[in-house]
Amino acid sequence: MTKKQYMKPGAEKKVLLEHGVRPLKHRVAVYRYLLDNPIHPTADTIYSELKNNMSSISRTTVYNVLNLLCSHNVVQEIAIEKNEMRYDANVTNHIHFKCFECGHVYDLHDVTFPTIAVPSGFRIDAVQINMTGLCPNCS
Ligand SMILES: [Zn+2]
Ligand SMILES: [Zn+2]
Repeated sequence: MTKKQYMKPGAEKKVLLEHGVRPLKHRVAVYRYLLDNPIHPTADTIYSELKNNMSSISRTTVYNVLNLLCSHNVVQEIAIEKNEMRYDANVTNHIHFKCFECGHVYDLHDVTFPTIAVPSGFRIDAVQINMTGLCPNCS
């Protein structure tokens, strides 16, 4: 259900460069964390995990890096929570499901992402499908 996105150590720098992002230390660390932990973490979770090994990182830096990575389409922001964003290094269209009991955000990869027709003149740049309910572990 949650697939780890495989990327060789060091390959994340190439991806950042390809998206026009200079691979500075904190940017690489945040991106690497998201690749290694496809749990759709919040910015706070990322910060508290990274600060253990990286004393130079601040909460503001994490927020700034996430905004930068989102604006360059390296990472996507998932507005499944009312009060906080979740982040995902998988930027392909896929459906998210949040369990209100355990709080886990699942990727529903086996569900076909629907094609949505819009009136002419409109151009779709992004579509998100976010569901909430009970996961199999909690129901
Ligand atoms: Zn659950
Ligand atoms: Zn996802």
